[in-house]
Amino acid sequence: MHAIGIDLGTSGIRLALLDPEGARIHGAHRALPASVGGDEQRAEQNPALWWAIVRELLREAAAHLHGEPAAIAVDGTSATLLRLDADGRPTHPALMYNDARATDMLSVLAGVAPADSAVHSPSSSAAKLLWLRRHEGLSGVRRVLHQADWVTGRLRGRFDRMDENNALKLGYDALWGGWPNWLQETLGSDASLLPEVVPAGTVLGPLDPEMAESLHLNPACRMVAGTTDSIAGFLASGVGDDTTGVTSLGSTLVIKQLAPEPIYAPELGIYSHRLLGRWLVGGASNSGGAVLRQQFDDAALERLSAAIDPETDSGLDYLPLPRRGERFPVNDPELQPRLTPRPEDDARFLQGLFEGVARVEHDGYERLFELGAPRVERVVSLGGGAQNPVWTRIRSRILGLPVTTAEDDDAASGAARLARIGVGLETGFTG
Ligand code: ADP
Repeated sequence: MHAIGIDLGTSGIRLALLDPEGARIHGAHRALPASVGGDEQRAEQNPALWWAIVRELLREAAAHLHGEPAAIAVDGTSATLLRLDADGRPTHPALMYNDARATDMLSVLAGVAPADSAVHSPSSSAAKLLWLRRHEGLSGVRRVLHQADWVTGRLRGRFDRMDENNALKLGYDALWGGWPNWLQETLGSDASLLPEVVPAGTVLGPLDPEMAESLHLNPACRMVAGTTDSIAGFLASGVGDDTTGVTSLGSTLVIKQLAPEPIYAPELGIYSHRLLGRWLVGGASNSGGAVLRQQFDDAALERLSAAIDPETDSGLDYLPLPRRGERFPVNDPELQPRLTPRPEDDARFLQGLFEGVARVEHDGYERLFELGAPRVERVVSLGGGAQNPVWTRIRSRILGLPVTTAEDDDAASGAARLARIGVGLETGFTG
């Protein structure tokens, strides 16, 4: 059986098609327009937009499948919440992952949810749901789902399942394995909006036969419960052991590793996702590529990198943050960026920035270790910054570990891999 992964990411939608041996034979991408927001805290999108792109990408993939069935899994942006009617139709635009209007729900959540829950942020799906309930009402709404759950639901023709990873920010208790009492009590009769939750990688059943026909897909295609976009990125890396760290160097710096036990440190933004029988722990820093982009365009980054000797330290002691405030590896909303003194030589300045981000990465893995994660022995990197060999060498020196670039960092490949594991074409994690 082939496998299809669909990644509903922050800037676009991707599809990856893997052959029965797991080799990638087709990939496609469509950009998404920016979210619509009434003010800077609101971010909404019409789900019909995603669906139109997903249909188009699946029709293209069908041409490469020549009638063969595929296992299909979808990942989506975490905490992007949809309200649906009894037939699974969106009743309103989706509240996107970065919609942060629900600030007035933080005190409500603080009063009912345990401190280590993943809901204590205005952009959590729990905060969004409570905000909608209070300010707009939920009349006509029969179900809430996340972005990946809904696209999966459209393909199945049923909207009764949510994957465990997406469910975390709606308050799901992954350790205990259920919707917690505090959430059910807070929602009262609206608790009926919550679907049944299943682990990522669970086989959900066949593709809806009519949908299969309209997409020219084999009706024996099987739908597999998906995950969040960042977990799909982790799965794309192929890492499956406890001692390899996975660093994503995009606009922000995100580190993840598998661990035998979950870690919860909500003050540092650290939660644990259950994934294929293991725990995936991680933290996100505000440091990362966005700071570089404030200073240099990508062409300048490449040109200046060529003039850097990665083996010697610049001696500069920068803390590259794009603005005041940090959450992980230190939680300090007042923490100021440190980007001075700036040398005349731009290459040396850039080297200082690279080293500063690498020290944040180092401290991040140290922090996970202090909190109980296994000691990382090597690092695999993803994202725009991972493509820079000079930076990779600097990171290796500062981390004191071998650092390599992931062969595949397309979250759509990660979702396809989850689909393969779900239907038993591939084993889960080793180690
Ligand atoms: P995201 O999806 O989070 O926006 P990407 O994975 O596309 O991020 O990575 C974009 C980031 O990569 C940018 O912030 C940019 O600063 C950084 N980047 C791009 N090219 C280079 C380079 N040659 N060296 C270092 N960083 C780079």
